[in-house]
Amino acid sequence: MTDYIEFISDFFAGAEAEWKSVAVDGVTYTVFALPYTQLDFPPEGYAFVDSYYVASNRAYFLRKELVQKLTEEGFETVDCTLPYKSIAYHSGLGVPLRSTLIANRRYGTRMALEIVAVRGVYAKEVTVDDILKKPEMAAFCRTCGICEAVCPQGCISTDGFDRNRCIRRLQESTDLSDEASAEAMGVQLWGCDICQRCCPFNSHLESREMTEEEKELFYIDNLYKAFSAGKKGCEPYRDILGGNYLRPAKLTALVLNVMANSKDPKKYIRYAEETLNHNDIRVRTAAQRLLGKIKEI
Ligand code: SF4
Ligand code: SF4
Repeated sequence: MTDYIEFISDFFAGAEAEWKSVAVDGVTYTVFALPYTQLDFPPEGYAFVDSYYVASNRAYFLRKELVQKLTEEGFETVDCTLPYKSIAYHSGLGVPLRSTLIANRRYGTRMALEIVAVRGVYAKEVTVDDILKKPEMAAFCRTCGICEAVCPQGCISTDGFDRNRCIRRLQESTDLSDEASAEAMGVQLWGCDICQRCCPFNSHLESREMTEEEKELFYIDNLYKAFSAGKKGCEPYRDILGGNYLRPAKLTALVLNVMANSKDPKKYIRYAEETLNHNDIRVRTAAQRLLGKIKEI
């Protein structure tokens, strides 16, 4: 059988990725990170769509390909039931932060992580007890606290992370019932980058402007037209948002919320009017919120 580490090295050779392995209880876990360059905060008229999801989508398919190749090579692949972040920490890929993200020396927090696991010991061993213990956050975080100060939802604290209030979670559930949270989402359609944008672990990384193609895709009117056209309309966003998230009603509600939080909500009045009686409560709630914002002006 091919040497496992050599096989993994060959698989990632030439790819912009970093990987590390650790063995626990007779299973070797390899965690890999695909980096991404985040977009600048968008100009007026555009929504923010986090580039993390593009990398996450790529990492998902790369993992599938790796699992298939490992199986073909004769390795027994198994599911990973251990905490990803602990594996990333114990393998040496990165350190856990106050924001609960993992930071890598090269990529900061701008990376998507995936894990493959095979039966056999091919890397340094760590006990199950150690891997289940929550790793200490990076020493720098103890005195920094910037992310805690800037999070509009107050999710981050030294006592833990309130996942249910995080904007990423609220976008997934499309829960717009709490006005303060709906407002805090701002023009972030998908993803929230606020705590990462200001994190010193990312200070060496540049963000970039949207390409012409991204401008076309993330223009607020175009987002609405695509999502309100149903599944087919959502299709151009498959590699950007991920196949599981191509839900027309959810995305329509989120883009209406972006309109409500934009600098000029009244520009979008016709979209609020045409969705006010939509059969999905999330869309109706977002349309009502948009109309409410227009009336405030
Ligand atoms: S902003 Fe500061 S406290 Fe928060 S994760 Fe980054 S370094 Fe740690
Ligand atoms: S992603 Fe946004 S809402 Fe979530 S913790 Fe970071 S700043 Fe707060």
